[in-house]
Amino acid sequence: MMRQLFLTLSQSRPVETTVSRVGPVRRMTRRFVAGETRGEALHVARTLNADGLAVALDYLGESVNDPDEARAHAEEYVSLLKAIRAQGVNSDVSLKLTGMGLDVDEELCYQHVRRVVEVADRHGNSVEIDMEASPYVEATLRLYKRLLREGFRNVLVAIQAYLYRSEHDIRDLIAIGGRVRLVKGAYAEPPGVAFPQKQDVDANFVRLMRLMLGPEARATGFFAAIATHDEPMIRATLDYVSEQRIGPEAFEFQMIYGIRRRRQRELAAEGYTVRIYVPYGTHWYPYFMRRLAERPANLFFLLRHLVELPGRRPK
Ligand SMILES: Cc1cc2nc3c(=O)[nH]c(=O)nc-3n(C[C@H](O)[C@H](O)[C@H](O)COP(=O)(O)OP(=O)(O)OC[C@H]3O[C@@H](n4cnc5c(N)ncnc54)[C@H](O)[C@@H]3O)c2cc1C
Repeated sequence: MMRQLFLTLSQSRPVETTVSRVGPVRRMTRRFVAGETRGEALHVARTLNADGLAVALDYLGESVNDPDEARAHAEEYVSLLKAIRAQGVNSDVSLKLTGMGLDVDEELCYQHVRRVVEVADRHGNSVEIDMEASPYVEATLRLYKRLLREGFRNVLVAIQAYLYRSEHDIRDLIAIGGRVRLVKGAYAEPPGVAFPQKQDVDANFVRLMRLMLGPEARATGFFAAIATHDEPMIRATLDYVSEQRIGPEAFEFQMIYGIRRRRQRELAAEGYTVRIYVPYGTHWYPYFMRRLAERPANLFFLLRHLVELPGRRPK
């Protein structure tokens, strides 16, 4: 119920406008968001690199309805890629298609993403495409496959284990040698398209992880990123790669900035590539609400933070 409430609130513009002005909430977002500027994000990325972690920087922005805003969003990614290269940071970039104008026009969105992918390719870098709510899945996969057909190998797309269709999508992407980030899925989806129960999502996650790391996938040059903080999912992956004698170079783990920091470093110390998804920017509200939805305990962290504000503390 709590999850549903936060996910519904995450889409409310009026609530966003109000909440985004509350100073203490803005400060609290720092647990999950590197900062509001590119400079702050690059600083966090360098710190994570120093701890042996790879990064994927994400410029926050989604549901963009204005073509100029979509163009500016793409331009920020071009500047970001240039800065990553100039500063020698070990970081990919990750983006959302609705930030690139998918709701305005699919072709316009494609041209923006293509430009970012092309600059990344020139710099020897990669672009990860987040998967958004289920009405966008078809267009996202269409755009991803078009980039592959154009010869870009430096692009990855996220697939959500909670969707019934995902096994079919992953088989399809294995056949064409794609690159996939497997996640559980962060949006409120109806039972007609997604498993409503956590245990079914988890079982599907493990099934898809095995498919993505299995012999068929290895034969086509498919690349797997396993993105989760859930210990049983991490353990199932470690058990499977050990059983199948799959080396750490064949895949990577991914986690979100601010979640399970110790575990991130442990896996890196064991020789696995661990990539941390690091968002930045002023449009943090929907992202932050999805993180609250994933774990009700985060709400109590927020409330405690608010109650403990200096001016409100009992003298
Ligand atoms: C790198 C990365 C990229 C992602 N990209 C996408 C995407 O493109 N599209 C999409 O729909 N979703 C994306 N997600 C989110 C994902 O779908 C899940 O919502 C999220 O990862 C929580 O699922 P979980 O696998 O960690 O397992 P869960 O079962 O949700 O959580 C397992 C445990 O992890 C810890 N945990 C999980 N979430 C939090 C949190 N917010 N705060 C504190 N602790 C937490 C807790 O200890 C929890 O018990 C991404 C996740 C990661 C890690």
